[in-house]
Amino acid sequence: MRHARKANFRQHVKEHALSLLFPEPVRCPLCGYAFRHLSQGIAKPRLCSNCARDISELTFGLCRVCGRTGQGAVCPECKLEPHVFFAARAFAAYDGSVEKLIKALKYQGDTRAMPILGDWLVEAHERHYGDDGHVVIVPVPMHPTKQARRGYNQAEVLAAYLCRKLKLPLLHALTRVDIGSSQTTHTRLERKQALHGAFTLNADMRMKFYSLAAYRKTMRYNRIMRQQRVRGANLVTGQHVILVDDVITTGATADACAEVLFAAQAVSVCVLTVAR
Ligand SMILES: [Zn+2]
Ligand SMILES: [Zn+2]
Repeated sequence: MRHARKANFRQHVKEHALSLLFPEPVRCPLCGYAFRHLSQGIAKPRLCSNCARDISELTFGLCRVCGRTGQGAVCPECKLEPHVFFAARAFAAYDGSVEKLIKALKYQGDTRAMPILGDWLVEAHERHYGDDGHVVIVPVPMHPTKQARRGYNQAEVLAAYLCRKLKLPLLHALTRVDIGSSQTTHTRLERKQALHGAFTLNADMRMKFYSLAAYRKTMRYNRIMRQQRVRGANLVTGQHVILVDDVITTGATADACAEVLFAAQAVSVCVLTVAR
């Protein structure tokens, strides 16, 4: 017995010493490629250069409204049927490695995907909305039943990551009241009809702060709102909102959310996603 314990201890010491000498390599979450050198990815989890090659970032030549690429200042679809939100921007196109990584987070709960997607969201925010001084981040909500089944809402997780990194206030302003049939309907009009009344204002919303400066700014702002006695004022009133989701497709979900936010007297609603 005692002998066994001693052997166990020896084994433990040996394993520990080995792990110090040869640390477990950081691996690319998509293909498993092991980064060999310290400079190759120990600091931050990321994709290997091979998997990162097929990412098409959305940087310029975008539709001013929906952020689609290569179709003039305002794309034909946005001209035909205007969106409720002011603008939507995404980090990259929804295909290849980006799609695989989002699906890994969404359906397999792969947490290694999280910091990579989060950093991309931060980058897209800096790129497209970086100069905006006062914004609140609102995640696109999931139906409570669906969220309970999955255990988390990827939009919420991404929004919290963004807020922590950029010290922006986070506001769970919305609730999803219908479980949704968005998978079965395809055109924007069909989705729009399916999503009518799908979101409401969260009755018990609270602002979460990641910096004292943002807290002070918002408190000062709320005091002014109270002094001005804005009718029906809530935490959304007078705010510039950035709505966060993992993917935007037709924009019907974002429009339905924006409708509720504008009804709650938001000044502007823009959308930020990892992919489109
Ligand atoms: Zn890889
Ligand atoms: Zn457009």
